[in-house]
Amino acid sequence: DPSRRTSTTPFRKIGARAKASPPTANRQLLTMGSAVPTPAKPPVRVLISGAAGQIGYSLIPMLLSGRALGEDQPIDLVLLDIPPCKDKLEGVCMEVQDCGFGLLRSLTPTVDGKTAFEGCDLCILVGGFPRRPGMLRADLLKKNGGIFSAMGKAIGSSASPNVKVVVVANPANTNCLIAALNAEGVPKQNFSCLTRLDMNRSKGLIVSRFGLSSANDVKNVMIWGNHSKTQYPDITEAQIKRDGEWTSVPTVATDEDMKYFKGDFIKTVQQRGAAVLKARGFSSAASAANAVIDHIKSLYQGTAPGEHVAMGVWSNGNPYGIADGIFYSFPCTCKDGKWSIVPGVTCSDESKELMKATEKELLEEKKEALP
Ligand code: NAD
Repeated sequence: DPSRRTSTTPFRKIGARAKASPPTANRQLLTMGSAVPTPAKPPVRVLISGAAGQIGYSLIPMLLSGRALGEDQPIDLVLLDIPPCKDKLEGVCMEVQDCGFGLLRSLTPTVDGKTAFEGCDLCILVGGFPRRPGMLRADLLKKNGGIFSAMGKAIGSSASPNVKVVVVANPANTNCLIAALNAEGVPKQNFSCLTRLDMNRSKGLIVSRFGLSSANDVKNVMIWGNHSKTQYPDITEAQIKRDGEWTSVPTVATDEDMKYFKGDFIKTVQQRGAAVLKARGFSSAASAANAVIDHIKSLYQGTAPGEHVAMGVWSNGNPYGIADGIFYSFPCTCKDGKWSIVPGVTCSDESKELMKATEKELLEEKKEALP
């Protein structure tokens, strides 16, 4: 593909320089000059779509700093956006080059959605059609349906056979479904969508509620369903760390706390995106990018023993009676690059009702998005 060749050329130097002077994290691996050098890991080819947008701007440096895939994992980075954003994308590439990330092996900006996915191991789909004021949900779903079915097809026909796809663009769960349904030959299990931001937001609120010292002292908050206002943030399984001991939130919560967790807490998480937009004048970007990194880190590096995280995943065969054939956020553990839904969570009647309400919305979205 000539466009890829041309666009990669100015960045070749980055790869060459990184080889001659490896980053700290790679020094042990490359052991320049030793008798038997240990080869560095082969690069992972990562595509970010919507790379010239807000989330892309925060996400790219976070990804290249190594937290998601590992500090010894070189990256071939493909940045995809649409033709009107070609110049902006070039500017982003200049900045990426100017950062001098040691893990970056090659950088390929492209506005060709047909060839961009060739050989990609990980596709982070951030770009999509934005909701305009007055736009109906059905129109938004149809617009994005077209974009995500094309992306799914391109992934199925040209990405690496073991490609993993993380969908961020809204409506994230349904965009993920459309891409997965169109990616021939790629298992649905290789797709997931982002609800980690909702989990992180919930953790932040729990830190404030209990006056904890950091978000590291909270785990196992669950997000059920759609990344939308019907999502159900649930603290039934949540734990907090006090004096070095993990304890269950429902056990330590007062009646007043429980009232909060069933009321304002849920509403605040559901409406946090709108609150950020109102205050900042732009939608969440740094926190969204940070959540994407957390999501990918869990997927690739695994979850800690006794920990689960929120991920929108293929619902077939789930143990909670949620309909098959949608991408629904469940509590998940990850190992060896694969997620599993945590079984055996006790769901009260109240919880079941909320889980069903968000399932209903996803089924409606599916109906509206699919022709
Ligand atoms: P943005 O408008 O700043 O950037 C989006 C970029 O995508 C733009 O550069 C645009 O040109 C590009 N784009 C549009 N269509 C494309 C296509 N077909 N192929 C490639 N690129 C395309 O938006 P943003 O703030 O970066 O947000 C991106 C998306 O993420 C939005 O859909 C937003 O709603 C969603 N989002 C999701 C979460 C979540 O938790 N799941 C959180 C925040 C934002």
